[in-house]
Amino acid sequence: MKTYRPGLPTVPPRMRNLPVNHEGYPVPFVCAWTDGEPNFSVVDPRKLAACHDQRWCSLCGELIGQYKAFLLDPVMAVMRTATEPPAHIDCARFSAAALSRAFVTLVWVTRGYSLGHVGSTTVFHIGEPEQTFWYAGGRRANRQEVMDSFQAATPPLYELARADGEVAVMKLDMKVKRATKYFPKHAALADYV
Ligand SMILES: [Zn+2]
Repeated sequence: MKTYRPGLPTVPPRMRNLPVNHEGYPVPFVCAWTDGEPNFSVVDPRKLAACHDQRWCSLCGELIGQYKAFLLDPVMAVMRTATEPPAHIDCARFSAAALSRAFVTLVWVTRGYSLGHVGSTTVFHIGEPEQTFWYAGGRRANRQEVMDSFQAATPPLYELARADGEVAVMKLDMKVKRATKYFPKHAALADYV
């Protein structure tokens, strides 16, 4: 018998077949297991490859269609890279709402992505978003919350860019500006799930 954590957003139907960890969270398909315990912060590389090759949702493990939803933090939104394969929109929105209890989390819906590598890590270069959904504190985030999270997240990126020189800083400025286009419009328009 599965017992979900009290206060967890409604688990989408496709994710209800997943095992549930001891904290009451459904265990994403792509996550690695060690000694019978899921490790939410580690992706199983075989499952990552299967998600990409078979077009399986990284969260529920079922086939996804043309719209691919990536879960991002503000830094990933600036760099347009994700570290986990895409998911269904409803699976991603559920996970963002659950994850954003601790962090501002973005669901980035796009039709295209390409695989790349940073060192030995596989990354997903994501295409132009068709929709974005921001979450904070388990609900849809407002513009101020997203702006605050960017202000906290971008200084280390600027530090790296400054070390690379003026052109790198200009490029980063452009990337940050590009990301801010997708912020929630203003507080009054933020809705809640
Ligand atoms: Zn799914």
